[in-house]
Amino acid sequence: MAVPNLAMNAIPAVQFDAELIRKLTQQGPRYTSYPTADRFNGNFGVGDYLQAVNSVRAMGARNPLSLYVHIPFCEHLCYYCACNKIVTKVRSKAEVYLTYLKREIDMQGKLFEGMNTVEQLHFGGGTPTYLNDAQMGDLLAHIRKWFKFATDDAGEYSIEIDPRTVSAARIRTLREQGFNRVSLGVQDFDPDVQKAVNRIQPEEKTLEVIQAARDAGFRSISIDLIYGLPKQNLITMNQTLNKVIAANPDRISIYNYAHMPALFKSQRRISEDELPSGETKLDMLSLCIRRLTEAGYVYIGMDHFAKPDDDLAIAQRHGRLHRNFQGYSTHADAEMVSVGVSAISAVGSTYSQNDKTLEGYYERIEQGELPIVRGTKLSLDDVLRRIIIQMLMCNFELSIRSLELAYPISFATYFQQELAKLKELEALGLLKLDSEWLTVTAKGRLLIRNICMVFDRYLNMPQEIKLERMKYSKTI
Ligand code: SF4
Repeated sequence: MAVPNLAMNAIPAVQFDAELIRKLTQQGPRYTSYPTADRFNGNFGVGDYLQAVNSVRAMGARNPLSLYVHIPFCEHLCYYCACNKIVTKVRSKAEVYLTYLKREIDMQGKLFEGMNTVEQLHFGGGTPTYLNDAQMGDLLAHIRKWFKFATDDAGEYSIEIDPRTVSAARIRTLREQGFNRVSLGVQDFDPDVQKAVNRIQPEEKTLEVIQAARDAGFRSISIDLIYGLPKQNLITMNQTLNKVIAANPDRISIYNYAHMPALFKSQRRISEDELPSGETKLDMLSLCIRRLTEAGYVYIGMDHFAKPDDDLAIAQRHGRLHRNFQGYSTHADAEMVSVGVSAISAVGSTYSQNDKTLEGYYERIEQGELPIVRGTKLSLDDVLRRIIIQMLMCNFELSIRSLELAYPISFATYFQQELAKLKELEALGLLKLDSEWLTVTAKGRLLIRNICMVFDRYLNMPQEIKLERMKYSKTI
């Protein structure tokens, strides 16, 4: 663990600089992994994954597991959605899915026998609460047959909830079933905005679910918001923030809506003339940061805020924060085993992804095989850059000395080209650089993706620069 650079404590956590953002905003990855998922390739297969699990075992399997379960179904389509989901009211589809999912869990369970302690579980989607109580109970019992769970106070067991799909009783059951954290999709409280994105979610319903989660003893309640949606403006955003702050969640995520109708079909239903301008979006972001920091939330990084006593903020202060496919996490060294259609695992120095279509996913499992269809084995260079990007994303600083001690490199020589670019960013006020530390400034924190992009070898291959960046969302 790198020693925290105490000089950081002297500056404010995040500073909004509209001119700098205007100048530097560009398309770029969100770095929930490095290499990013678009670099995975079809040459990577089940054999490579099995080899990765074997090497984890050979190394003594020191790390606990983080288990991700993907439930792809949703009842309604939210027009802004860019997730891998299946919108259907045909409930029997979930029944069929669960039979295959359990077979995949059997295969993963056998593979990890003897090194199967889970400290982190996350149910994501789609809508995990598309499953009813009985289906959820049965699925969890099946997972517990194969995996050992750390105690409730030591483990982080979370589920994404669509408040429209649950009652207070359901929330209590989820707690009894072992979940101790919830994340609620809200996006915006304004009825006109909700109508424009086809997600009608009465305020009372959301507040009732938050209260129910609190009463049921959930350790952390998180709310997801989006800025940049149609019909949003500064007034509606301010009203939504009033309500969110009054609801007092432990964590708040505010995502920038990336309108990419060429990539995501459902976004074509959004009227472009109802979208806020780039300038209004910037103002909304500035407002969110000001209101939430004034309300006592800490800026964790990349769209995330948390109360100072929340585990995420504590982990960040202790240099233990980690970034993975679900955003930020407190369990840095876990092997991530993911099940379900399109799910991505991170085991040893590999990433592997399951088939993205239900048909393909079912077919592989029918053949008695794990449904892995693509992935990547990290080279030493990838591992080194992954660590750097993780450190910057999570701690906003990089100990060059620690890196040189852990790897046989001279930072100045190995990253000669990157250093030239970093110096340009330093001149713009995004970071401070000396021979021992790279420190992101309060202004640079909002543009952290720009800084990480300097270290992304794939993105900086000359022939790819223009073409590749077109498929990413804007950094702000
Ligand atoms: S935003 Fe969530 S609930 Fe809406 S369609 Fe996407 S995955 Fe489903």
